[in-house]
Amino acid sequence: MKKRAVLLCFAVVIAILCSARAAADIAPEPEEYSPAEKYLPRQETSKPMVALTFDDGPSGQYTLQILDILRQYDAKATFFLSGYRLTENQYAVAREILNEGCEIGNHTYSHTDLTTLTPEEIQWEIDSTNDLIFAATGTTANLLRPPYGEFDENVLSAGYPVVTWCIDTLDWMHMDPQKSLQAVQENAFDGCIILMHDMFETSAQGCRLIVPWLIGEGYELVTVSELFAAKGQTLSSGSTHRWAG
Ligand SMILES: [Zn+2]
Repeated sequence: MKKRAVLLCFAVVIAILCSARAAADIAPEPEEYSPAEKYLPRQETSKPMVALTFDDGPSGQYTLQILDILRQYDAKATFFLSGYRLTENQYAVAREILNEGCEIGNHTYSHTDLTTLTPEEIQWEIDSTNDLIFAATGTTANLLRPPYGEFDENVLSAGYPVVTWCIDTLDWMHMDPQKSLQAVQENAFDGCIILMHDMFETSAQGCRLIVPWLIGEGYELVTVSELFAAKGQTLSSGSTHRWAG
């Protein structure tokens, strides 16, 4: 019995030594790690984003001034164009919007409250504007912004994602660049859509304040489509979109 106990004890010691050795074999030597592997993979932290949007243009010099400001800061925006504004002498401005990497959306032809129109009239408002956008740029708009942000079931059934906003700078009303800036400073968040108008000099001046402020706060300024793509969200026709995230 004693001999057996000694043998058992010996076997246990061998087993422990073997397993320790096996563990040592399995564990990589420290020098086998490359420096990068010593740490967990770094999570890609995407910057917070906002989508600046400009309605009611194109309006020649003010649209171009805003594009200049955006270019200076490598920022993008979305311009919802009105068909009645897209006369032939504005075609080059529409092309410039796309050349700058910005996006064109559809703001209907006559800027009528679409909830007062029949489905056929709504379709005409959208289609005739897209025809003009195509004549100017060779592409059509995929996004619809209804005038005054007004929509109903007929508008939602027109076949386009409806894009409204969550921050209204009211630039057209107060005509005060500082007040537009303040509206953004007080309300900006990751994924928000901001409403402005490229119709007025004061809006271009407001843009000159808002764009650097947003950049300074760490925001990336992208188009509406880029914003939703970055957030992994779909802009669906028949749905309204006020922000992404
Ligand atoms: Zn409008």
